[in-house]
Amino acid sequence: MAWFKKPRKPIEPPDKQSRVPEGLWVKCPSCAQIIYNKDLASSLSVCTKCAHHFRLSAAERLRMLFDGEWQEHDRGLRSTDPLGFTDTKPYRERLDASIASTGLNDAVITATGRIGGMEAVVAAMEYGFIGGSMGVVVGEKITRAIERALEARMPVVIVSCSGGARMMEGALSLMQMAKISAALARLDRAKLPYISVLTDPTTGGVTASFAMLGDVNIAEPKALIGFAGPRVIEQTIRQKLPEGFQRSEFLLEHGMLDIVVDRRELKDVIVRMLGFACAARETPPVVEPPVAEPAKT
Ligand SMILES: [Zn+2]
Repeated sequence: MAWFKKPRKPIEPPDKQSRVPEGLWVKCPSCAQIIYNKDLASSLSVCTKCAHHFRLSAAERLRMLFDGEWQEHDRGLRSTDPLGFTDTKPYRERLDASIASTGLNDAVITATGRIGGMEAVVAAMEYGFIGGSMGVVVGEKITRAIERALEARMPVVIVSCSGGARMMEGALSLMQMAKISAALARLDRAKLPYISVLTDPTTGGVTASFAMLGDVNIAEPKALIGFAGPRVIEQTIRQKLPEGFQRSEFLLEHGMLDIVVDRRELKDVIVRMLGFACAARETPPVVEPPVAEPAKT
């Protein structure tokens, strides 16, 4: 017989309704400080205490980069689910859920507008849409954006925020890597600048293609940038990975990036770079032998 018996009744929370309205304050995951939402918005979603960079949506990113209004392109493109793919749930359902939650048709917004007074094409990826993964639509929209820049002779800025290629579209996703890279090669031949901005996270097929092909590769502080995840690499090479592996600062130190810039200074840096690149373009070009085109089969 037990001497003491505890009544098995769970303690009910005193008041189910919180008196603090939802979403007025945010807790910083890095320094655990409580930040007023409006303060966070005014500092471009960078923690005012420890400079932790919160993730931005694609629309917020465009608002931050452009001087004012911008013109969006190819908004209506949607995935057709070419493989009829189903994992734990049908891909079509995942698409519908992401379209409803983000208000976008796929994981990138491409637009034309002015940055520091200069006309530029910007593609900003949306992590909220199936992890910012690159399927056929993302590949097509970015390629069209680059082609638009080629036609109008404008610089290109691509802001990556992606988990990589979209597995629900299989090999078709992987083909986008080649398609975008080929478009960027044409941009390069036309001597138009391309600035790549790598934000947290930039991984997989996005890192392995356009994110690393910038004339300048800029990253935000402490962003996760890599191809395979650290666990996969550790299992493959059977070695412990060094501290800070796959973070911006580590990659900068090892020559994979050109510069790591705090988001609050990012626009100024891009404006300066574009100004420099566009001024260089206006000087008479050096006459070069023509580049041989690959033979048509
Ligand atoms: Zn913080």
